[in-house]
Amino acid sequence: MTNLQLIEENYMEKKEKLYEGKAKIVYSTEDPGLVIQHFKDDATAFNAAKKGTVANKGVMNNKISTKIFQFLEKEGIPTHFEKYLNDREMLIKKVEIVPVEVIIRNKAAGSLSRMLGLKEGAPLAATVLEFCYKKDELNDPLINEYHIKALRLASEEEINQIKRYTLKINELMSKFFANLNLELIDFKLEFGRYKGKIILADEISPDTCRLWEVGTGKKLDKDRFRHDLGNIEEAYQEVLSRIEK
Ligand code: UDP
Repeated sequence: MTNLQLIEENYMEKKEKLYEGKAKIVYSTEDPGLVIQHFKDDATAFNAAKKGTVANKGVMNNKISTKIFQFLEKEGIPTHFEKYLNDREMLIKKVEIVPVEVIIRNKAAGSLSRMLGLKEGAPLAATVLEFCYKKDELNDPLINEYHIKALRLASEEEINQIKRYTLKINELMSKFFANLNLELIDFKLEFGRYKGKIILADEISPDTCRLWEVGTGKKLDKDRFRHDLGNIEEAYQEVLSRIEK
């Protein structure tokens, strides 16, 4: 196939902007069941109290997310991923996002360290699964399954499915990154409803995972931006290069 054919095959007309978030924009397409997810270079942290841009971040996160979604699909996890379109865009299924962020923690870091007074990198005797209510005005508060039911954010059946997928994804992704000599410390997932079923949505990238190099403990994720550690672009590029090897 020539380059031009490839570009034509991957071309999808953007109709209208449906939503613009901190790091991504979603556009409608001529197909009502599919939308385009566009990755920006904008970075925010601490609920947008800190703002900036990271050169090329959108391109790198689009590529990293694509590879991870393809890997998870191959391993039997249903995702919204349809197709890589170009540097900054992927075609995805249009879902109704469940307004709950699901976090897995394999070691203590970030808000868990702060909340429980644990040293960064402290081992946990068991994997921790947390839910946060996706609500910027409230700072995405930590909630539990009772809150989810009380606010009708998801049904019990949906919560159970989300937990099963999340724990499986943790097993799969921990191995995936271990093979690249990276330790998956924690990550955040979002799920959506599609044709009555729960599927994995959003993105999986160094914006949403903590990844530490095995041996050196070097941080190759958004903590470099959060805490001004420098070399952010290089860190994301390092993750991408290892995935593409
Ligand atoms: N995370 C995310 N989006 C959020 C909150 C957290 O992607 O809105 C990710 C974050 O990058 C980390 C994990 O979820 O990999 C746990 O984040 P934590 O609760 O420790 O929050 P932080 O300390 O980053 O504010």
